Amino acid sequence: MITDSPRESCGIFGIFAPGEDVARTTFFGLYALQHRGQESAGIATSDGKGLRVRTGMGLVAQVFVEDDLADLNRGHIAIGHTRYSTTGSSRIANAQPLVVESDLGTLALAQNGNVVNASALRTQMEPSYKFYSTTDAEVIAQVIASSFGYSWEDKILRAIPRLQGAFSLVLLTRESLIGVRDPLGIRPLCLGRLNGGWVLASESCALDTVGAQFLREVEPGEIVVIDQRGVRSTMGTVSEQRSLCVFEFIYFARPDSLINGRLLYLARQEMGAQLAREYPVEADLVIAVPDSAIPAGIGYAKESGIPFSEGLIKNRYIGRTFIQPDQRMREMGVQLKFNPRMEALYGKRLVVLDDSIVRGTTTPRVVSLLRKAGASEIHMRISAPPIRYPCFFGVDMATRAELIAYRKTVDEIARFIGATSLGYLSLEGLVKSVGLPSEDFCLACFTGRYPIPVQLEMDKLVMERP
Ligand code: AMP
Repeated sequence: MITDSPRESCGIFGIFAPGEDVARTTFFGLYALQHRGQESAGIATSDGKGLRVRTGMGLVAQVFVEDDLADLNRGHIAIGHTRYSTTGSSRIANAQPLVVESDLGTLALAQNGNVVNASALRTQMEPSYKFYSTTDAEVIAQVIASSFGYSWEDKILRAIPRLQGAFSLVLLTRESLIGVRDPLGIRPLCLGRLNGGWVLASESCALDTVGAQFLREVEPGEIVVIDQRGVRSTMGTVSEQRSLCVFEFIYFARPDSLINGRLLYLARQEMGAQLAREYPVEADLVIAVPDSAIPAGIGYAKESGIPFSEGLIKNRYIGRTFIQPDQRMREMGVQLKFNPRMEALYGKRLVVLDDSIVRGTTTPRVVSLLRKAGASEIHMRISAPPIRYPCFFGVDMATRAELIAYRKTVDEIARFIGATSLGYLSLEGLVKSVGLPSEDFCLACFTGRYPIPVQLEMDKLVMERP
């Protein structure tokens, strides 16, 4: 990690549902969003009189025991958060929802994304406010709480133009649940209906899990306020530009989620099919690095006519290798995570799909596992273009110097990972597979064209690089 200020890509959930067990529903909603963050989790509830909050380090199921849910359950509104950040910032003070006070009362906030001007805002506010965490979520909460306004909507409307970057938010006040999406719509947020109540979630898979019906996405720049009177929507800062993170489509979101009307499973299958068209090869078997690349593997197999099979068996109880605190642990993680099916792979020419190469830790280890299992050729196919630029908007993707495609050409990467051949999906192929116009997306990790200036952050990266 390059700074102590965490970059967060997280899962957020909110519910307003009188008569429902809102704490437990939030717990299950967070369970469905666990893939978006495994570092800490938290739930805040309101019963109309006051707020209760419980946060802890670890997975959702490690943080909450039955008594916590019973205690939190005296209410009809709740928000929840699963947090994903990187080393140095993994501490309980940074767990969300976090709570701040304002002239309108108490406010709890959970955020997904990263605000790039958070440290500047923090410096401005420090003389009058003591920060308890190093998160930009606390900066956002404080900007909202300290903005002038006779209602929460007023405050949020005034706060949004001061925030630059990615922020999908769920907010809890004594009487209301509020959803906010940044004007560029970088991180997803959707709205659903549950037995006369309302639900907000980072991804539609969480709505399915709690039995809510998907209604629509919260629009970029929209503020949705839900209270006893129903739902009100206000458009805050409106931007002509749209910058939905394309990495949500490639890797981050769950394949059974729907984003911008596209089912991710099908988009990923199409990425695999497109790869088969861009990089065909003679082979005996298509396999995929589980779980994230399986839809792309199926797509490649269908398009090429080469049979698909499971080639690596994944231990599903080992967390994402990427999240391990240091490089040595990350390297070990790959072996702990996958076991090759030697009887299926021995002597075979393989096409192996993975969704991305970031630092280049996983792929050479996967290739070497497959070689040891007797594969005669290994043709790696990656359902994303080379990642050459870091993300400042909430997906932890390493510093620029750590990105293997920043340091090496595709041929050099092919040699480094030890594959027989390597093919990355083209940018055009990626956009075509998702099936939405390229102007709708933030493609900065591939192109370096960031939707908002990140020069300051870039300078920091250069200065703080070891
Ligand atoms: P690396 O080993 O650094 O090259 O990372 C690539 C592997 O990590 C791929 O197998 C991806 O499925 C996975 N991955 C890619 N991006 C992320 C991310 N932001 N968080 C966690 N895992 C990731």
